[in-house]
Amino acid sequence: MTQPCYVIGYDVGGTKLGIGLASTDGKLLGSARLPNKDTRPEDVLPETLRLTRDLLDNAGLSLKDLAAFGVSSPYPADPVNGIMTAPTNNKLWRNVPIRKYYEDNLGIPGCFENDANCGALAEWFFGAGRGCKDFIYLTMSTGIGAGIIAANKLVRGKGFCAGEIGHTVIKTDGRYCNCGLRGCYEAYCGGRAIAMHLQAELRTMPDNMMVKMVNGNLEGIDMVIFEKAVRAGDPYAVEQWDEMSRINAQMFGMLINTFNPEKLVLGTFAYAIGDLFLDPIRKYLPRFAWKQMLDDCELVPSELERDIASCAGAAAAINCLQEQGKLAK
Ligand SMILES: [Zn+2]
Repeated sequence: MTQPCYVIGYDVGGTKLGIGLASTDGKLLGSARLPNKDTRPEDVLPETLRLTRDLLDNAGLSLKDLAAFGVSSPYPADPVNGIMTAPTNNKLWRNVPIRKYYEDNLGIPGCFENDANCGALAEWFFGAGRGCKDFIYLTMSTGIGAGIIAANKLVRGKGFCAGEIGHTVIKTDGRYCNCGLRGCYEAYCGGRAIAMHLQAELRTMPDNMMVKMVNGNLEGIDMVIFEKAVRAGDPYAVEQWDEMSRINAQMFGMLINTFNPEKLVLGTFAYAIGDLFLDPIRKYLPRFAWKQMLDDCELVPSELERDIASCAGAAAAINCLQEQGKLAK
C-alpha cells in the first residue's frame, strides 16, 4: 500500500452519528455529525454516504484514496459479522448489517468495533494516548466501559467483551444493576445509576438542596444537579460524592494493579467536571494501588472530549490495517 493513505469512520451514538475522515498517521481531515435520536437506519445510512462524498471532495480526495472504513457501534452487537443487533439507545436499529452496508456502498474493506474500544483507539491515535504502549480509556457517563491497550495491542477477549468494567462487582450483595448482577461498579458510579439512587434517597429528604434545585421534581436530579450541590457545600451531596470518589479510586486501583498502565484516560465526567471529579480520586488512589504502579500511571481527562465521535470509527479502521499488517505501527 502506498502511503499516506486515508480512512473513514462512522460512530453510531444514541443521539448522534459522527463521521470522520482521517489520514492513517493520525490527522483528522474532516468530520460531520447527523442527528440520530429515534431515527431509522434506512433514513440515516444513505445520508452518511452523501456526507462521506462531501468530506472526500473537501479534502481533494476520492473513494479510491480510502484504505478502509471503521464502524464504532454500541453493544449488544455481533462483532464477527459486523451487525448491530439490539443497541440499547437506538431502539429502531435492530439487526442492522452495517459493516456489509458500507462494504457494498464504498467498495472497500472495513471493521466493526465496540464503542468503548473505539474510544481507546481514538485516544491512542489522535488524543491523550498517543505514544503509549499500555493505557486504558474509560467512558464515564451514563454507563461505564473501558477500552484496554496492553503491550501495544487492543485487548478484545474471546467473546469481544473485554473491558466491561462497569459490571465488575465491587460490593457483594450491593445495589442491583440493570445487567442482573448486584454490586456492579456502574451501579455506584454510572451517571444513570447515580441519578436513580439520589432520586430514591431524596424522596424522604424534602428540605435537601438538590430537591429544592429541581422544585421537588425528583426526576430532574442528575449529575449536573449533584455537581452543583457539591460545589455549594450541601453536606448530603458532599458525603455521596466522597463515596462515589472512593469507589472510583477502588476500581481504578484494580485496573492499575492489573495492567500497570502508563495512563488512565477518562471520558465525559473527567473533562465536564474537572478537578472536582479527579482530585478526590487521586486522594484515595494510594489506598487501592501500589505506589510504584501509581507512580507509573497518569490520570488524565480525554483529550478529544466530544470530538471522540469524529475519530472513533477512523481509529478502528487504522487499528485494523495495523493488525492486518497493511500499515506499520
Ligand atoms: Zn451490572
